[in-house]
Amino acid sequence: MPVTNADLAILGDGSEAENIDKDQSLRPIFASDNFVLRFTHGFDSVQRRSALVAGNIAPILRRGIIQLRLLFAEKIMRYGQCKLCLEDGELQRSHLIPAGVFRSLRSEGEDPTAFTAKKIVQTSRQFQAHLLCRVCEDRLNKGGETYVLKNMARRVPDSAFPLFDFVNQGTICDADDDCRVYDTSNVPEIDTAKLAHFALGMIWKTSARDWVGVDGYSRRLELGIYAEPIRRYLLGAEPFPRNCFVHVFVWPDKSSVSYGTYLPRRHPVRQSHVYSYYLPGITFCVYVGKGVAQEQRELCCYSNERKPISASIYIAQQNLSLLGQLSNFPRNSWQWPRPQFG
Ligand SMILES: [Zn+2]
Repeated sequence: MPVTNADLAILGDGSEAENIDKDQSLRPIFASDNFVLRFTHGFDSVQRRSALVAGNIAPILRRGIIQLRLLFAEKIMRYGQCKLCLEDGELQRSHLIPAGVFRSLRSEGEDPTAFTAKKIVQTSRQFQAHLLCRVCEDRLNKGGETYVLKNMARRVPDSAFPLFDFVNQGTICDADDDCRVYDTSNVPEIDTAKLAHFALGMIWKTSARDWVGVDGYSRRLELGIYAEPIRRYLLGAEPFPRNCFVHVFVWPDKSSVSYGTYLPRRHPVRQSHVYSYYLPGITFCVYVGKGVAQEQRELCCYSNERKPISASIYIAQQNLSLLGQLSNFPRNSWQWPRPQFG
């Protein structure tokens, strides 16, 4: 698969970056997707040098000016129609990738690094737009984003992965060589409604407008006839949309979590659509369509009374592929310990 100009990756922790095979890292994994976004910490000297040699990155001074400009741009309000409530008013500058995800990927004050096929830029400010009014921004925060950011894996200021700990308090209700499904209905700290709200919020935001990356290329997801029911659900005007099913996966092993993220993306499958998004430690998969298979419907963390959350080696490996194999997850040798059925 040749590298396309629209490929995008963000990464950079010095220790992990040394292992990057650059050709691999910029290769789109799914043919239908034309972007990969990846983040980790920092910016190592080899990458800095290659970026400078390639003429793709401005000197430090120019970077500073760009960041300053973005900082001011962030403060500027704009009047227009909010994409969620459709009312006219002052619009906030919304982040497509939650700012808290960027913060979690910082290392000693260093911003994460965005890699695209054309540019390498160290930045904390990606994919912002005047999208929502203050009330709707707050709706998405309270609906799920705040909860997810609090419970995802993080290394700063302290190493923690609350959702992993909570899920492991649940009982295993299904398991095979690859995957474990946990019944989390008896774990009070787990709020699968918020996880599902966040997942739908992410794919809806990605579909609500074109988002232009550091490389100048724009990305957007299509939700088709499901865009409107999802919007109305996020607004609080309608119940959870029919024929939408949200699967949540925690990383199977707490110590090998991959610290990165990519843009919400669509995977081609027969008779339905699957969208996915990864942030540190948690993968969200949204199945949409009348053709979604029964076993996928039953794994929905929102509609199934067991509030299932899974951990899958396959899903972790898929994410590692997308994230350019930055993590040290032992890809071929890892096996589950013996399952304890509750
Ligand atoms: Zn609004």
